[in-house]
Amino acid sequence: MKRKNADGKTKLTKNQALVLKILTKASQPLGAYAILDKLRSHGFNAPLTVYRALEQLAGQGLVHKIESLNSWTTCCGDHHANSPVFEICNDCGNVTEQFDRELVKSLNSMSERSGFIPDRSIIEIHGRCDDCGTDAKWKVKI
Ligand SMILES: [Zn+2]
Ligand SMILES: [Zn+2]
Repeated sequence: MKRKNADGKTKLTKNQALVLKILTKASQPLGAYAILDKLRSHGFNAPLTVYRALEQLAGQGLVHKIESLNSWTTCCGDHHANSPVFEICNDCGNVTEQFDRELVKSLNSMSERSGFIPDRSIIEIHGRCDDCGTDAKWKVKI
């Protein structure tokens, strides 16, 4: 698991590695309790153990919390400075990370205008992914 990060800085504890493995295998974001259930056989018995591992993994940029789903998912790679935009499919539950420099720029200049000092931004879009949205595309022509 450690080798996933090319920078070599990441040293995962056993618990973190287990949680990351569960999320990597999952096709959809998982809530802490779903993760806990899958790890009971590994000696996890308290949500706090899962939460702690998740917070630490998030701190290392390996996982993201999807706030609107109250679930967690693995990071798609290294985007570091850029905040991802999450596209969440209502049909299959798939979540993809997207990046848009222009969007980030717009957000920054918006904050500059209002004098707001941004700490973090969470952008989550609900809808249908490319796989599920074929029907909708036929109906709505943009
Ligand atoms: Zn990410
Ligand atoms: Zn979908």
